[in-house]
Amino acid sequence: MLLIKGLVFHVLFLNMLAEYSFSDDSFERMAKYAPISEWYLENAERNFEYSFLGQQEIKIDVRRGDTLNLLLQKQGIPHYEIGQISNAMAYFMAPTALKVGTQITLRLTSDFERPGKKRLFYLTLPIDEEKYIEISRQKRDEDTFFFSQLIEKKLEKKLLYQSDIIASSLFNSAHALGLNLDAFYTLVQGLDYLVDFQRDIREGTPFEVIHESFYRPNGTFSHHGKILYASLGVRGETIRVYWFSPTASMPPQYFTEEGISAMKAFLKNPVRAGRISSHFGNRKHPILNFEKKHQGIDFAAPRGTPVYAIGDGYVEFAGRKGGYGNYVVIRHNQRHSSAYAHLHKFGKGIRKGVRVKQKDIIGHVGATGMATGDHLHFEIIERGRKINPLSVKSPPQIKLEGDQKTSFESFKNSLQTIKRQSQFQAVNGLRDEQKIVF
Ligand SMILES: [Zn+2]
Repeated sequence: MLLIKGLVFHVLFLNMLAEYSFSDDSFERMAKYAPISEWYLENAERNFEYSFLGQQEIKIDVRRGDTLNLLLQKQGIPHYEIGQISNAMAYFMAPTALKVGTQITLRLTSDFERPGKKRLFYLTLPIDEEKYIEISRQKRDEDTFFFSQLIEKKLEKKLLYQSDIIASSLFNSAHALGLNLDAFYTLVQGLDYLVDFQRDIREGTPFEVIHESFYRPNGTFSHHGKILYASLGVRGETIRVYWFSPTASMPPQYFTEEGISAMKAFLKNPVRAGRISSHFGNRKHPILNFEKKHQGIDFAAPRGTPVYAIGDGYVEFAGRKGGYGNYVVIRHNQRHSSAYAHLHKFGKGIRKGVRVKQKDIIGHVGATGMATGDHLHFEIIERGRKINPLSVKSPPQIKLEGDQKTSFESFKNSLQTIKRQSQFQAVNGLRDEQKIVF
């Protein structure tokens, strides 16, 4: 439902409150401890004795090798209490698994019964931007114990549209827009099969994103989240991807405008009906006659059989290369290239720098170079290293259909609405307080 307050603005609220996902495990633990928490609230005054008398707050940055026990020891907490505190924390995370760089806040009081020792009154440890563990000293009758709980910050989620014209690199642009780095790397992986970051992206490439942005109850910015939409204007077209999960049980991934998963699968066979005649690994070379690692797999096929590009990409090499004879290398993405050797001839228009689509004919089977007979020698190169092509696990390709396609289309529309409203706001120079709220 669209509710117009005043005019338009560039930040739109989709969900007023962020949703949080806890593991089922945490929920159980929280439920188990809820009664004590209620008891604590009712008896707050009885805990008062711990809240004064020289309390000091200390912030400690976790360094490599730090454990909770070690940090508490250094602060002068007696060992029997350290054990209790550790046990309390263990409900939510291992006290040894402190993440380097996180900041622990401690509130300590001096222990008047034991000079030089301290009492822990309160401890907080952030888990991520949205959750933290709080451990507090409690007193019930005459017993002291430590109570831990997982606390979620009530953050407000907004969806933010931002656009940029790339000046140097996509990374610098993402940095300038302040995007969440983890989310950005996920986006790069999603775009990897659609965009060649080295060739396609140049100065002046338009770049757009819609991403989550989280705000604290007092309105201050907390952090940016997932990138739900991105577009890049490359090769005279606009590449768009959408972060979408087809079903509740499926993790989200990037989909193209057409509703096809952005991560593309490679063809299993570069030659139709080709039979593998030699596998990857050590073997006696048929011509050189000594043990040599076979860096690819061979497909037996008659001379002239078309050889297909196993995926979209750029021709990195097309020409004569020693024992390989006529050789074609296609770079598919940052990670994978494929190579085709002993070709009788090259496919039409196949030369260095040309872009090819999956199933384009890049050449024909032959026996050029060092080959005993007609066959295709096929290689996959992963980050510069030749690997067994059969070991490459392509992500399963999903094509959204039916209900999934319908909800994908409405998701796309809602994002495009955000984009249009934001652009309208920008063009008309409207102020932030003149807003549209979802
Ligand atoms: Zn071979």
